Amino acid sequence: MKHFDVIVIGGGHAGTEAAGAAARMGAQVALITLSRTSIGVMSCNPAIGGLGKGHLVREIDALDGLMGRVADKAGIQFRLLNRRKGPAVRGPRAQTDRKLYREAMLLEMERLDNLDIIEGEVSGLLTDMDRISGVTLADGAEIKGKTVVLTAGTFLNGKIHIGDVSHPGGRMGDRPSVRLAAMLLDFGLKTGRLKTGTPPRLDGRTIDWSGLEVQAGDENPVMFSFLNKTPVARQIVCGITHTNEKTHDIVRENLSRSAMYGGTIEGVGPRYCPSIEDKVVRFADKTSHQVFLEPEGLDDETIYPNGISSSLPVDVQESYVRSIRGLGAVKILQPAYAIEYDYFDPRNLLPTLAVKSHSGLYFAGQINGTTGYEEAAGQGLIAGLNAASEALGGEAIHFSRTQSYLGVMIDDLVTHGVTEPYRMFTSRAEFRLSLRMDNADQRLTERGKEIGCVSNERFKQFEAKRAQLDQGTEILGQKFLTPFEIQNLGIKISSDGVRRSALTILSYPDASIEKIESCCPDFAALDADIKQQIFCDSLYLPFQRRQDADAADLRRDEAVTIPEGFAFSGLPGLSNELVEKLSRARPATIAQAGRIEGVTPAALLLILAQLRKIQKLKAAS
Ligand code: FAD
Repeated sequence: MKHFDVIVIGGGHAGTEAAGAAARMGAQVALITLSRTSIGVMSCNPAIGGLGKGHLVREIDALDGLMGRVADKAGIQFRLLNRRKGPAVRGPRAQTDRKLYREAMLLEMERLDNLDIIEGEVSGLLTDMDRISGVTLADGAEIKGKTVVLTAGTFLNGKIHIGDVSHPGGRMGDRPSVRLAAMLLDFGLKTGRLKTGTPPRLDGRTIDWSGLEVQAGDENPVMFSFLNKTPVARQIVCGITHTNEKTHDIVRENLSRSAMYGGTIEGVGPRYCPSIEDKVVRFADKTSHQVFLEPEGLDDETIYPNGISSSLPVDVQESYVRSIRGLGAVKILQPAYAIEYDYFDPRNLLPTLAVKSHSGLYFAGQINGTTGYEEAAGQGLIAGLNAASEALGGEAIHFSRTQSYLGVMIDDLVTHGVTEPYRMFTSRAEFRLSLRMDNADQRLTERGKEIGCVSNERFKQFEAKRAQLDQGTEILGQKFLTPFEIQNLGIKISSDGVRRSALTILSYPDASIEKIESCCPDFAALDADIKQQIFCDSLYLPFQRRQDADAADLRRDEAVTIPEGFAFSGLPGLSNELVEKLSRARPATIAQAGRIEGVTPAALLLILAQLRKIQKLKAAS
């Protein structure tokens, strides 16, 4: 029997990223999934990125992860969202060809020498003393591994609903994972039910495209990966249509037949991907909603109508869809449906995504209460790195809130848990001016190299870029201009006699790369990308300094860890309410404890004092 360092269960977005990360760390990895052809399948919309989500993809890429590179290969329409706003809130998004995405992800997996893909259903977990030691498959086979990462997505006890008809399913066309779900119940972890939905898929040949608005991609597409400059696949346009009052009337009249509204589903759904039923009820005063008609692939006639997911019966779906302009004679290829599934309270987890109560077991992706491919991939990366590190005898690998959106997401999940499917937004990050998509490599690639998950090839490329950035910054930092010279560039400044560096001036509201170039030929000679990056960095320099100081304070706290068995109940001066909250959340660091609702600085001081006391006693013994 082959023994692996890391076993990853599931070949979705969390699973592939976990397997890839563990393999890059040098671990022997088994990726076990229901079918090889479903590796990298996008269960819902054929798109990657967006606001907040695009930041996650950039960070995954900075750590040499897969999602960015694969999305670049499969991208058929790239758009940088919030292009007119500041760089901190811009988000790259690409519509992708489903088939190309799947194929490119499978290729990434196949290319890793130390990764075996095993087709099968994991039906149980093996334990040795108190540790997880492998998995059993439905056919009775056993596979041994030092650590196991579970990424079963929406499959655990998955149930599909279309109107009042429901059947077990992991997603349309796939069986659910029932045996594994039953076994996990015995682990005594806190669980719940969540739901999500998807729109009907339409036959593009039956859509009347004449008269519909179209949306093209960006003229200068922005890629996800720092390694790529231009799209590979042919680029396409999307159609745009709108729901109308008739559509809303049909939905309203049939609300009682909707699985989500008729009371058939108990789970909580994603607030930020509302179904057409949700839209009609929650935004009752709106008479129309935009619907994007997105092609699912270059050689695929299927259209994904973004914005009208539903769990209404098929006959109602047909009539509300056909009430929409351009869709009067449309053929539905696959009806919309909702799915409910088991998830595990992420407060069961450490910040490494290891399950607190079962050594060697990690959870990542939708099973932790998140929604979205990018959130799943980000967790997969963190769990894969840590599972490999543990198996190979290394240290736990943490990412902080001050350093990355990955850190923000993990900290939010393990500290606060979820009450509804969690998705990433830029507003979740306190340090979002520093955590930009454009500087993800500057924040993380060197760290990734230290951890061991970044290839030499990528690091070399990063170092060359960093050298050019340093050179450009130095050129601008050493070039000083008088107020008169600055005014001559068309930049407003008071005549105060103070000379300022070109780097400082670049951050002024009416400064631009072109204006600075005109007085600084050495800067003008640099690559356009490098100049643009220095411009972005300079814009945020004044804010960055303040944030760096705040972040340094926070990091000092974050460095203080609270041991797993720490007894909050024994602390004199801590109220019963706080003892209960802290014991339930089991924060792993002082910083995490501080973010628990109601935990005061005074309470943190009590915990810190107790930790120091324990440390002193240990040192003395
Ligand atoms: P998945 O991508 O689901 O992958 C799970 C993997 O585990 C699969 O490869 C499966 O084969 C494998 N697996 C499961 N059980 C076993 C087992 N016992 N043994 C071996 N392999 C197993 N996200 C959004 O952001 N917006 C939306 O509107 C949205 N709508 C959705 C609608 C539907 C109907 C569905 C199904 C999902 C939707 N999602 C949506 C969620 C999105 O698909 C997920 O967030 C994402 O796929 C999660 O990735 P994952 O890796 O956690 O799980």
